[in-house]
Amino acid sequence: MTGKTHLSCGILVGAGLVSYYDTDIFTSITLVTLAALSSIFPDICHTRSKVGRKFKLLSWVIRLLFGHRTFTHSLSFIAFVGILLYLLQTPNYYATAIIAGMISHIILDMLTPRGVKLLYPLPINVKFPVTFKTGGAVDTALATALTIGAVYLLFSSFWQEVFYNMLK
Ligand SMILES: [Zn+2]
Repeated sequence: MTGKTHLSCGILVGAGLVSYYDTDIFTSITLVTLAALSSIFPDICHTRSKVGRKFKLLSWVIRLLFGHRTFTHSLSFIAFVGILLYLLQTPNYYATAIIAGMISHIILDMLTPRGVKLLYPLPINVKFPVTFKTGGAVDTALATALTIGAVYLLFSSFWQEVFYNMLK
C-alpha cells in the first residue's frame, strides 16, 4: 500500500480511539498524531519511503540488519515496542494508539501480493487470500474511503465536544 493509504488508515485508527476514549482536545490531537506516525513507521525499512527518507541513517541501519518488510512488519516488533512503551510508563491510550497504528500498517501490507514476514524471524510471508497491487485502483479507493471515515469520525467527536460544552 502507498504511504497515503497507510497514513489515512492511521488517522482513522486515531479518530476511532478519540471517540472511544472521549479525550480532551489536546489528548485527542496527540492520539491522532501518534496513530498516524506509527501507521507509517514500519516502512522505516524502505529507504525510499516517506519515513525512510526522513530518517536516512536509522532506515539504512534497520534495512542492513533485517532487510525489507521483515522485523518492523512482525509480531515480534509489536511486542518489542509494547514492552518499550510499558517500560517508559506510557499512558494506556497513547500506547494503544501507537500499537494500533502499527497493526493497521501490517494488516494493510498483508493485503498486498508480497505480504509481510509476520512471524519474523521465521521466513514465512503472510498475506490475506485476496491481495491488491500497491498504487492500484483498489489502493486509491481504499485511501479515499479511509480518509472519508477518518474525517467523519474526527468531526463527529469534535461536534459532540462542542455540543457538550454548550450544555454545561
Ligand atoms: Zn510496509
